[in-house]
Amino acid sequence: MTDRIAHWIDGASVDVPDSRLGPVYDPATGAQTASVLLADAAMIDAAVASAKAACPAWRDLSIARRQAILFRFRELLEARKGELAAIITSQHGKVLDDAAGEIARGQEVLEFALGFADLVKGDYSVNASTGVDVFSFRQPIGVAAIISPFNFPAMVPMWFFPIALAAGNTVVLKPSEKDPGAANWLAALLHEAGLPAGVFNVLHGDKVAVDGLLEHPDVASISFVGSTPIARYIYENAARAGKRVQALGGAKNHMLVLPDADLDLVADAAVNAGFGSAGERCMAISVVVVVDTVADALIAKVTERMGRLRIGDGRRGCDMGPLVTREHRDKVASYIDVAAADGATVVVDGRGVAPDGDENGFWLGPTLIDRVPTTSRVYSEEIFGPVLSIVRVQSYDEGLDLINSGAFGNGTAIFTNDGGAARRFQYDVEVGMIGINVPIPVPVAYHSFGGWKASAFGDAKAYGRQGFHFFTREKAVTSRWLDPSHGGINLGFPQNA
Ligand code: NAD
Repeated sequence: MTDRIAHWIDGASVDVPDSRLGPVYDPATGAQTASVLLADAAMIDAAVASAKAACPAWRDLSIARRQAILFRFRELLEARKGELAAIITSQHGKVLDDAAGEIARGQEVLEFALGFADLVKGDYSVNASTGVDVFSFRQPIGVAAIISPFNFPAMVPMWFFPIALAAGNTVVLKPSEKDPGAANWLAALLHEAGLPAGVFNVLHGDKVAVDGLLEHPDVASISFVGSTPIARYIYENAARAGKRVQALGGAKNHMLVLPDADLDLVADAAVNAGFGSAGERCMAISVVVVVDTVADALIAKVTERMGRLRIGDGRRGCDMGPLVTREHRDKVASYIDVAAADGATVVVDGRGVAPDGDENGFWLGPTLIDRVPTTSRVYSEEIFGPVLSIVRVQSYDEGLDLINSGAFGNGTAIFTNDGGAARRFQYDVEVGMIGINVPIPVPVAYHSFGGWKASAFGDAKAYGRQGFHFFTREKAVTSRWLDPSHGGINLGFPQNA
């Protein structure tokens, strides 16, 4: 008998005895540890109805009182985040330090959102016309749905819900069914912080739940993060249903290494960004594009560092944990055969890894593949695992053209000591987030997060000012309070005078 992970609706855990269920695994042991409920139409309606009913009172609560509840949530999270990290590691597999890291990045957004009073206040123009004042202010949009991926079960929801809640919206979160436990923990903590029932709901499920939210007339907006085919589907269907939508998709991030770069810095960065969280990060580096003259030296340094990584159970102080499911591990591993068949050189094959952990875990060690042909699926497809490709180029221009010809545009990085080259790169590269000697350039919370091309659909990025714009809509009021001396009728079209 495994644990059941139930929905969280109207301030309480809601189990449904005859619900469809999905398995939840501990990736480090391979054992099923829980079953998550998969919503049907009735549960979708219940979650949205709960959020809708809570909307007016939450919107009308003063800024000071909303702020006080979110501050209390921030304090509770800071005190108890170790519990959340343990849940993430037990269902996702990433090592505890990395789970703590994702919580810290989510907290940054929460802390940014706490300053919301300044971000939702409006503008005022006195005497725009004689005796006429014009002012604008922003109001919440209503019920905000958030649909999140498996790879950041706490951070990605926290890119959105602190801002949605601060701005006065209510939320239905549909987390990944692969690691759903973090969402319930966050819901219970918000409840403990004093968030009124119904303001934050967790609806567990699969495509049925997602489609139900896309079609529901009482859902005002969809914030989605996941793979590109689903992001495109979400964008098209949410827009067709008249909703506001931001849909962040997959990635294939390149790191361009120029010959003047510090190769030790580059090797550290490539290993961190390629194998951290077992490569299951949308901002992971998956292709190192290196100018040929320094390629051999760089590969030697990367290989030496890979040999020092400890792969194993994330609770044992290892550097890299397992992959999220057996199917995903097998799919990622299959690319190593594709690489060999396509004529690439497999420098390090992670399939032979000896993990510090249960032999039934979903293990795959760090893998390095040199001379990957750009015609190979290993180069063009998002692998989302610990497989780092090397592509050799002859020049900066060849590297830039390669990066710009890709389908995705999430993140990229250049490593060089030439400021002029870096400056040209930041201007010319067709990618949304750029690192200069920084391998994983996730913007801080007061800038916004989002890629270009097939990595993001919709007009608004996540968090930052754009987050507040997404979760609010503006009203402009033109008002005239008659001066006691005024009189008369004028049927003409209003003009400024
Ligand atoms: P996924 O697209 O499989 O799932 C994401 C969400 O969509 C989940 O909640 C899932 O239940 C739902 N979903 C899955 N299939 C669906 C379908 N057919 N119809 C409707 N809903 C469906 O993604 P994942 O495997 O959970 O996460 C990994 C992907 O997310 C990678 O592609 C990664 O690059 C991407 N990602 C992108 C960013 C970013 O900021 N751009 C951040 C994190 C992850």
